[in-house]
Amino acid sequence: MTADYRKQQARVLSGMRPTGKLHLGHYVGALENWACLQSQYECFFFVADWHALTTDYADTSSVKQNSLEMVFDWLACGLDPQRATLFIQSHVIEHAELHLLLSLITPLGWLERVPSYKEQRENIKGKDLGTYGFLGYPVLQSADILIYQADYVPVGEDQVPHVELTREIARRFNQFYALPTPRSVFGIKPGETEGKPSLFDSTAVFPEPQPLLTPAAKLPGTDGRKMYKSYGNAILLTDPEPVVRQKLKTMVTDPARVRRTDPGNPEVCPVGDLHKIFSDRGTVEKVWAGCKSAGIGCIECKQWAADHICKVLAPIQERRRKYEEDPRLAWDILESGSARAKKIAAATMDEVRSSMRLSQSYEPPEKTVGAE
Ligand code: SF4
Repeated sequence: MTADYRKQQARVLSGMRPTGKLHLGHYVGALENWACLQSQYECFFFVADWHALTTDYADTSSVKQNSLEMVFDWLACGLDPQRATLFIQSHVIEHAELHLLLSLITPLGWLERVPSYKEQRENIKGKDLGTYGFLGYPVLQSADILIYQADYVPVGEDQVPHVELTREIARRFNQFYALPTPRSVFGIKPGETEGKPSLFDSTAVFPEPQPLLTPAAKLPGTDGRKMYKSYGNAILLTDPEPVVRQKLKTMVTDPARVRRTDPGNPEVCPVGDLHKIFSDRGTVEKVWAGCKSAGIGCIECKQWAADHICKVLAPIQERRRKYEEDPRLAWDILESGSARAKKIAAATMDEVRSSMRLSQSYEPPEKTVGAE
């Protein structure tokens, strides 16, 4: 089997931990972008269920249901199985084999200095994250990326160190092992940090992926902190209109605006941030002028924000209904996506094994010079 290196387009890979129903932060921070990338790249989007277990290993009962709920939202937000491969990580067991092989060559110090490692160990309470799996999850991420020979990984600024680690691991692997014969690779030449992927000959097993920076709009939750489900401040993509309106009503505003007659500043108000993302230009101008002059009240300002958010959510919720009524449709998409992903992953693993002299085909013993 040979890997599908002659890609027609550059390849993009991204995944998401299955946390169940998604919220506006996921939409703005990832899904909108993923839906655009589908028309420019060959895209692979996966449910990172093994990654969920690196922190939620003690109770796995909701992982499968959460995966489906999340994929309902993916499809509702425009991910198209005709244009992108949607699959479940644990259905492509080759990820685990490559994870193991990469873990053998990854120095511990590289993992200990990943910024999110320390940060999450300190911030996630009530779980023992002093596990082998948690320390090694960036290696699993590297395996996820490298097994598809991805050229680009769409990430926010905070995830760039993970892509950099993947590049370092790929480089280290390529230093130890090489393909027996050069092959034509569609990708970015080693040593290049930018530029369009092109076809070139290489004995390197893995191309080095590049981060594709996603412009991150600031999307606050109802309490003004970053929107996270676990903070209880999220507006879900599935929230019905009355729930969206109720959540907006309780949203914090510019603390300087104590009375209706006090002028405010939409630049420091979380509701202002929502307007910037979801409202049209006319509404934004009206809010900025009205807030600064105390010409409008926060109640009507929030109603306008809710109007625009509901306008975005209505078609998403409409498309989602089809999968809620027949979840099997989404499962079938994931099954056929996983089968397609597996073919590419298996081809890569053939090359990995052969470069490491672990191929599963018979090789006669090498004759030593001078032996009879
Ligand atoms: S008028 Fe709108 S932008 Fe200004 S403080 Fe109130 S909610 Fe915030």
